[in-house]
Amino acid sequence: MKKRRYDLYEFSKCPLCYYCVESFNHVFTCSKQKDIVIDIRQKSQRLLLKLMYDHANIKVESSYLSQLPNIWTLDYQPQDSLSFINIIKGFVSRLLTDKINAKVKHQEMTSLIISNFMNYIYTDICLRVWNVRCQAQVAIEKGLGINNRMKKQKNISRNKLPRLDLDRNLYSSSLTYGQLGVGYSIRSSGH
Ligand SMILES: [Zn+2]
Repeated sequence: MKKRRYDLYEFSKCPLCYYCVESFNHVFTCSKQKDIVIDIRQKSQRLLLKLMYDHANIKVESSYLSQLPNIWTLDYQPQDSLSFINIIKGFVSRLLTDKINAKVKHQEMTSLIISNFMNYIYTDICLRVWNVRCQAQVAIEKGLGINNRMKKQKNISRNKLPRLDLDRNLYSSSLTYGQLGVGYSIRSSGH
């Protein structure tokens, strides 16, 4: 019994920093991941400028987009305000769309630019952040599997149940959003 509770405790911790309880937001704000997320954010801003220039021949200063309130922050925001974490989850910022369309003045072109921007974030977050987190988790599970087998073989099957329950709890908060995007992809990855 004690052993099982210990396992539960272990799995609720972030597999990268081993310190924080892993919420959905923590995956992207973990001290081990934050620099990469900030890099992706910076590159996604540059991509927007490049897309506006390439497709609409419009040149704007980076401050034109970077000064938009809240949407680039990784900090917690009240529900009615979009943060970069929400963008990672697949939310499209109306504020950003309007800002781009104010220059591009072409709704379809703006949608295309936003779509490219969202895809870039999704791909890079999966590749550079989410996959890294999953590999760390798998390594921990493998380590635990070996330990448990060495200690007591009967416990192997038991360890699988709390893991599934925990994964479901961990991402249940994002279920309410119901959008397609990283959040959706992460939830349906079946890990
Ligand atoms: Zn962490």
